[in-house]
Amino acid sequence: MQLLTTSSLLADLYCANCGQTHTAFSRQTLSVCCQAPLLCSYNLTENNISKADLINRPASLWRYEAFLPVLHPENQVSLGEGFTPLLALKRLAAQHGLNRLTLKDEGLNPTGSFKARGLSLAISKAKENGERACIIPTAGNAGVATAAYCARAGLESVVVMPRHTPDAFKEECLAYNARLILVDGLINDCAAKVQELNQNGDYFDVSTLKEPYRLEGKKTMGYEIAEQLDWQLPDVIMYPTGGGTGLIGIWKAFRELQELGWLSPDQRLPRMVAVQAQECCPIVTTFDGKQPNCKQYVGKPTLANGLAVPRPIGEPLMLSVLSESGGTAIAVSEEEMVDGVRDLCRYEGIFAAPEGGAIWAATQKLVQQGWIQPDEHILLLSTGSGQKYMDNLKGKW
Ligand SMILES: *Cc1c(COP(=O)(O)O)cnc(C)c1O
Ligand SMILES: [Zn+2]
Repeated sequence: MQLLTTSSLLADLYCANCGQTHTAFSRQTLSVCCQAPLLCSYNLTENNISKADLINRPASLWRYEAFLPVLHPENQVSLGEGFTPLLALKRLAAQHGLNRLTLKDEGLNPTGSFKARGLSLAISKAKENGERACIIPTAGNAGVATAAYCARAGLESVVVMPRHTPDAFKEECLAYNARLILVDGLINDCAAKVQELNQNGDYFDVSTLKEPYRLEGKKTMGYEIAEQLDWQLPDVIMYPTGGGTGLIGIWKAFRELQELGWLSPDQRLPRMVAVQAQECCPIVTTFDGKQPNCKQYVGKPTLANGLAVPRPIGEPLMLSVLSESGGTAIAVSEEEMVDGVRDLCRYEGIFAAPEGGAIWAATQKLVQQGWIQPDEHILLLSTGSGQKYMDNLKGKW
């Protein structure tokens, strides 16, 4: 039941696999029809919101609240996430003969990564739906964000994390009073543990794409990129890919902006690039035709903890984004991503997570291969701060 006070244009949820619609106004997880992710749809054509209305909105992702699923503003659980800066990387661009290189610094979000965007939305909706406690399998950053936003909302949280994750992630979860459970293995092993702990459905499971709303938080990066560049999109977006919510979400945003009529009809959408670690690169392996899909893929740990997602449920959606956008998928080695982190530190003063180092390393490879032209506008989506990764990075300078 939709009350009249809502600021949201949310209409329905639809199944990512078969398109069947489902109500957005009760608790939803995966679609009942296909056990696939559910995506939000909005009444984008019957509204009178214009780009100019954004000017007086808050400098956070909530400036786009009409296009977000929270129905009542009092349920917005916020720590000031979003509206992160776009930084021109002039020194690195000059060194490498590139015309325009831009970095969106998601490390400046609450809890130090873009996971704040998704979890702000998911926990807001959990609050709106009257949930009491949330549970999450995580490679690190998503767990910290869940713990923080649950604390902010007054909900309990349970975080299940690989034992080898750097200590800073674990300590911060404990500081927010989360129940922390450590598992030997990667995030898929943590997901199995979550299933076991949540057999009775006592917790709201905020696993990547297993509820519809984290994606909507990540989508706001696409709105911001467009607005911050005065609606002139870059040619290429480099995205460090784990579960893929950012890749899928940014693309969803561009499609919504087209439907709103906020992009000029001749505006070409960016080519989206999925960057992974060689140690765990299921999407690259499928994209290259070396396996039918990632369902049997076995991954290893990587310094970029957020990229260690061997069997992402969003694989079909990611592959659609790569093909629709004319994008590609590429893997980098552990040494290459550390070199990338070092470059961003030394030449630009940005201490990115290894995931951010990976996309800079991948950019150089794609320029060398001629897949990116030096005169193109390249946007690096740097997803997190390096500060929590000290166990992985110390001694590497
Ligand atoms: C989680 C994470 C990623 C991967 O994001 P997905 O949405 O799962 O693809 C990349 N970088 C960092 C720093 C992360 O925490
Ligand atoms: Zn379906």
